[in-house]
Amino acid sequence: MYYNENTTIYLDGKWIKAKDASMDLYSQTLHYGSGVFEGIRSYKTEDGTLVFKAKEHFERLKYSAEKMHIKLDLSVEQLTKLTHELLEKNNLENAYIRPLVYLGANMSLESTDEVHIILCAWEWGRYLGDSQLKLMTSSFERPNPKSCFVDAKVTGHYTNSILATTEAKRNGFDEALLLDMNGYVAEGPGANFFFEKNDILYTPPLGNILPGITRQTMFEIAGELNIRIIEKHFEKEEVYEADGAFFTGTAAEVARIESLDGKKFNLNWDDTLGKTLSDAYLFKVQKREYKNYLLL
Ligand code: PMP
Repeated sequence: MYYNENTTIYLDGKWIKAKDASMDLYSQTLHYGSGVFEGIRSYKTEDGTLVFKAKEHFERLKYSAEKMHIKLDLSVEQLTKLTHELLEKNNLENAYIRPLVYLGANMSLESTDEVHIILCAWEWGRYLGDSQLKLMTSSFERPNPKSCFVDAKVTGHYTNSILATTEAKRNGFDEALLLDMNGYVAEGPGANFFFEKNDILYTPPLGNILPGITRQTMFEIAGELNIRIIEKHFEKEEVYEADGAFFTGTAAEVARIESLDGKKFNLNWDDTLGKTLSDAYLFKVQKREYKNYLLL
């Protein structure tokens, strides 16, 4: 699914076949989760392939590395150039790109100087799919920002996400919604959360969540379309009364949500602001003008 015998990846300065790649089983990242990564999408546009918000993603990768004391020598520009080469070598246009920075053999708990980077890409449909999601409030909380850097994209943080999604699926739901350590709604296991009430969108402020690049794009689009988004803390009970809700993420794009804990939202998806933002997002990533189209 992620690679075949022809797939080429970038590993530490070399282009090699994915099937020939190997890693050290004593890697500190494998044992303790001390790696950093990104999830980026490219889109086919009239002007060629666009790596959407490449700068923002690679800046976040560098930020995540710095927070984890991982020395990442490549610049944002170099990483962007390599990503374009990766797509060309694999003949990919609409793709999901996964940079991963991981560490060499070290069984101690002190960060280590041996740093590796891979860049790989594959064609990937919308994570979370296209149907309306039934969410459950997770029994797992998002990590406390005092326990780690929640605004960094660190491999080990995703054990929390895996527990939450698995719990939700085993209980017959599609996905989880996690609260923060104060009991306020935070985000999904791999996406940010918005809900709509009386023509206004609400989303948790930064602090206890990953600062999503798609979340930021929602603010840009909403600004252009005169849609109001308010950042505030709210409890799950407020979401029960919502008119609509959605997740945002690079992999998920804008994912429609039908209900939380069995409480269905008031509006049909097609009548929500989420639908408008979802349409606009797909125009924007393809560099197509959407303002006039959506106002018609
Ligand atoms: N929150 C979490 C926990 C995530 O893993 C992701 C995906 N990176 C997001 C939010 C959304 O971030 P972005 O829009 O930058 O992909």
